[in-house]
Amino acid sequence: MEATKNKKRDRTGEIYGDYTIVRPAENDREWIARCSCGRERIVKNDNIWKLKRCKSCAAKLRMKKQKPKKDKFAEMQNWMRPKRPKFKYDVLYELDLPQCVYLCEGKLVNEYSNAASFEIVKCNSIDEKVVAKLNRRVNLKKKDVTALCPKN
Ligand SMILES: [Zn+2]
Repeated sequence: MEATKNKKRDRTGEIYGDYTIVRPAENDREWIARCSCGRERIVKNDNIWKLKRCKSCAAKLRMKKQKPKKDKFAEMQNWMRPKRPKFKYDVLYELDLPQCVYLCEGKLVNEYSNAASFEIVKCNSIDEKVVAKLNRRVNLKKKDVTALCPKN
């Protein structure tokens, strides 16, 4: 390494991530790198190995990866709604979840013919992790749901 210390190594044509080194910069320790989209930037010798892609390309990539989240509960909303709903939206329900140790309390989100989805509003601290994993939403068979009497 000693011998080449003062001589600029020609990195032209080298590829780092989506960048290609196109030419030396004015500064001896810097290079001009061109992203695959055509944007150019100056990069220091020391940072050249860190090159991946320009901010614009990175943002585009992130957009591609982010698929819109579908809400399966909302999707079922209309066509599965029973003619004579059993549950009400303003009542708390006791939910017997197979995933949970204790019974949870939940509010109705949607009711279907034989099942219903609930948002869990209260659960035992032991079950908190499981409930969080479910995004606090559950689908239950109607038989596993009991209405809680409003407290006076
Ligand atoms: Zn780019």
